[in-house]
Amino acid sequence: MTRSITILGATGSVGASTLDLVRRNPSDWRVTALTAHSNVEELAKLAREFGAETAVIADEARYEELKQALAGSDVEPAAGRAALCEAAARPVDIVMAAIVGCAGLGPVMAAIEQGTTIALANKEALVSAGEVMTAAVAKHGATLLPVDSEHNAIFQCLQGGRMEEVRTITLTASGGPLRLVEDLNAVTPEQAIAHPNWDMGAKISVDSATMFNKGLELIEAHHLFPVGLDRIRIVVHPQSVIHSMVEYRDGSTLAQLGPSDMRVPIASCLAWPARMDTPMAPLDLAEIGELTFFKPDEARFPATRLAREAAEAGGAAPAVLNAANEVAVAAFLAGKIKFSRIALMVESVLSENSLPPAPRTLEEVLRVDEDARMRANAIMETA
Ligand code: NDP
Repeated sequence: MTRSITILGATGSVGASTLDLVRRNPSDWRVTALTAHSNVEELAKLAREFGAETAVIADEARYEELKQALAGSDVEPAAGRAALCEAAARPVDIVMAAIVGCAGLGPVMAAIEQGTTIALANKEALVSAGEVMTAAVAKHGATLLPVDSEHNAIFQCLQGGRMEEVRTITLTASGGPLRLVEDLNAVTPEQAIAHPNWDMGAKISVDSATMFNKGLELIEAHHLFPVGLDRIRIVVHPQSVIHSMVEYRDGSTLAQLGPSDMRVPIASCLAWPARMDTPMAPLDLAEIGELTFFKPDEARFPATRLAREAAEAGGAAPAVLNAANEVAVAAFLAGKIKFSRIALMVESVLSENSLPPAPRTLEEVLRVDEDARMRANAIMETA
């Protein structure tokens, strides 16, 4: 049976992995909408290849360029934030939410309001909106399937028992490319994005290096799997073979293992609740040889502590943490601040003033996000 799919963030790393699976099973899929931020050339190329109904570029200034790139095809061009939300709200079987950052929140909420199934890669949206998003999911009868390899692993392990029988959830972390690097002040963007196991977009690669990725994932897990924050653990596992684990009350721990390739958790979402083929080589544990585990070093990488504190504080704190981190990562990638200042900046924004009240609507979340960005930029300029 052919199923329809919309891919938000089609030109990115998760978007490409999703389209790779679609390309391998063309008769299974009909592509409804593809979106990007500014990469017109790639967006138009993909929209033509997959025969998308519409292609949306978020940057409105690129509309004419997109229109020209799609001339002669049946793909309808569109641009701007409203068009992005309109594309996300088109009726489909599944929406892949793979925009990076809080910029993806509006479109994800638009998809949720249609009560559709959403494969959620865009963790920043859930971290920022928290209960506003989970309440909307419940209200509209939408389904959130976690794409993040750790949350997808937990989701799979939870098929083996009941939520009330879970003792702990353990998120594994590779530790990133800088785990053993001594001088974090001297780290360049090139070093920070050179992840040892995963090939990902620049922002999440820096997040992996600072461990903010794991911090965001802790908050994400807290919303997706309501077992209580104190039952969610993090362990460093440099080989990234075990993607996460669930321990049950009887002492059984279930783990999901697999290659470090996003096509595995993406396939799990696309085929859910069934399974589909992927081009992965079989897991060869004898070849891998050794799986090791360490406690996270929060003295060198304070991001997981900051995220846990923000999750405990609740309300606006996670959205503030996320916004400050997005500003700091962009500044680091642009060569404006040192690597070690990313966590310091996030901590400053979180502790600078009293936090705004807990947001209750999408608009309030976006206001908290915008305000935190302004404060992060102000801190950067005065430092
Ligand atoms: P990329 O940077 O590779 O791609 C991001 C996508 O979002 C691109 O299509 C980009 O368009 C689009 N985009 C960027 N900014 C905006 C904006 N302001 N408005 C609309 N669209 C925008 O990111 P990844 O694919 O690596 O990550 C996507 C999400 O998935 C992130 O939240 C990340 O944390 C999460 N994730 C990623 C994993 C990975 O392996 N990459 C693993 C697990 C989670 P353009 O190309 O035009 O800039």
